[in-house]
Amino acid sequence: MLSREQDFENRIVAPEMEEMDRENELNLRPRTLDEYIGQTKAKENMAIYIEAAKRRGDALDHVLLYGPPGLGKTTLSEIIANEMGVGFRITSGPAIERPGDLAALLTNLNENDILFIDEIHRMNRSVEEVLYPAMEDYALDIIVGKGPSARSIRVDLPHFTLVGATTRAGQLSAPLRDRFGVVARLELYTPEELCKIAVRSAGILGIEVEPEGAMELARRSRGTPRIVNRFLKRVRDFAQVIGDGVITKEIAAEALSRLEVDELGLDSIDRRLLSTMIRHYGGGPVGLETLAAAIGEEAITIEDVYEPYLMQIGFLSRTPRGRCATALAYEHLGITPPAAEIMPAPEQMKLEV
Ligand code: ADP
Repeated sequence: MLSREQDFENRIVAPEMEEMDRENELNLRPRTLDEYIGQTKAKENMAIYIEAAKRRGDALDHVLLYGPPGLGKTTLSEIIANEMGVGFRITSGPAIERPGDLAALLTNLNENDILFIDEIHRMNRSVEEVLYPAMEDYALDIIVGKGPSARSIRVDLPHFTLVGATTRAGQLSAPLRDRFGVVARLELYTPEELCKIAVRSAGILGIEVEPEGAMELARRSRGTPRIVNRFLKRVRDFAQVIGDGVITKEIAAEALSRLEVDELGLDSIDRRLLSTMIRHYGGGPVGLETLAAAIGEEAITIEDVYEPYLMQIGFLSRTPRGRCATALAYEHLGITPPAAEIMPAPEQMKLEV
């Protein structure tokens, strides 16, 4: 039997980047704003900021992108660099261990370059403090010497743009958050948008897919481009073995059912989460930590990975008293909901802040 961690790592609907995605992502990443499908609001605003910065010949304001994994934060950052015609350096919060590591990265940038820091909420506090003057004044304060003779010298940096990405904007410290001029939230994609992404990716990879086949993949991809691209490659194998190589609606449905992804994109862990809420906690409200312990997952994983999609499709709601399964979730699992008066109506559920 698989351990829980293995179970998660092998989860075909996991939105995080897995080894199997690496090759995919290199070829499939859109390079321009025009190729970047969906996220209309973020994209339109970004196009204006880019144009304005280019006309001024200046660096773009610092940008914070937030939203669940796999929605295109890294892709959009690379596109920004491409559209600005500037260099792109990529790192992540946990990879910058000491203030000196960040200083080395910053002093190596060229004028107007983009420094992309993924998972910026996981950056060390001492590193974060180096960022403040760097973002605000394009300067580093370096302490030279020790003891009474120590003094601080200021080193000028090139004008650069920091693009920070995070799955949890709420965990950023206020001083850091305030230093971003542009804050954009990426939303889960609609099935229609994911269908376009699947067709585009199939074209690049030379995979034959019928429009209804692409739509079937899209409907089961939990609003996430990384997942639709992964499905495309997996389902191609099925199409070659059980069909004639073309991904039709039937083959997509059959292949994904075999991979235990149901018609809404839920897998065994989602179903376990919902059925635990329903069978053990009367449908909720149940606290996040309790739920995490009951299904053997980290609370943070439940919040970042499972809940966004379950909330989007109206199966789960966050209320001040805990998580609740909705009547739709009962229906999907084939469980009769309790009498209407004890099920909270959606409009009575206040969002947790
Ligand atoms: P994140 O940084 O948010 O985890 P990525 O930028 O790595 O997500 O995106 C994952 C993959 O999904 C990319 O390699 C790309 O192929 C695809 N992708 C993401 N957003 C889009 C989009 N808007 N249009 C087309 N493909 C996309």
